[in-house]
Amino acid sequence: MVFGGIQKTSLIDFPGRVGCVLFTAGCNFKCPYCHNPELLSFSTAQVIKNNWVMSFLKERKGFLDGVVITGGEPTLHKDLMDFMAAIKDMGFELKLDTNGSRPGVLGQILEKGLADYVAMDLKTDPALYAEMVASPVEPEKIRTSIQTILDSGTPHEFRTTCAHPMIDADILAGLMDQLSGADLWVFQECQGTRMLEPDFLEKAEIVYTREDVEAFAAQASSCVKEVRVR
Ligand code: SF4
Repeated sequence: MVFGGIQKTSLIDFPGRVGCVLFTAGCNFKCPYCHNPELLSFSTAQVIKNNWVMSFLKERKGFLDGVVITGGEPTLHKDLMDFMAAIKDMGFELKLDTNGSRPGVLGQILEKGLADYVAMDLKTDPALYAEMVASPVEPEKIRTSIQTILDSGTPHEFRTTCAHPMIDADILAGLMDQLSGADLWVFQECQGTRMLEPDFLEKAEIVYTREDVEAFAAQASSCVKEVRVR
């Protein structure tokens, strides 16, 4: 594992748990609104060693309930499953955040029961991913990850950042068919100045307001058990 950051305590990232958040370095997408651009490349990420992370977690036993592994994209790391198993052995619950690009790894993690909660970013129609995240992405892999999560029985959420042109009412309608029956779909405003493309919002034809995001959530509410706006 190569970590690029740590948040030592979080009350909001792992539902119902006091957790810490580990940020893995490296991502195979280049979302223009990415808030962690320094994590995308192994060369620009600050490197936190595994040993340090394990010592930190040993010290925090009894204070933390859970560990969130986020990115970057955690499933790119070959030793992710071993790392997750070691953390589980220490008695922590685990939440995995993923962009859904590696359904094979995701499926193994869920099958082995290594994740107590999984969150997948759903950025746009799978067929539009390659264009929208400026990276080669096979749409079928995104669809398979969605279905793998839905079939797994693992508590889960899907998260969508409402940015144009990734999301509009028609794209959302297509996604609703694929997410039918999901536990939770979280809609987020696209905001802030710290982005991979700093002028992304300035150049956008449409910038969705909080009311627009709430309308997307209302549209999606018929297909999933719960929607939230963050
Ligand atoms: S938003 Fe997530 S998936 Fe997109 S580039 Fe950033 S870390 Fe990767």
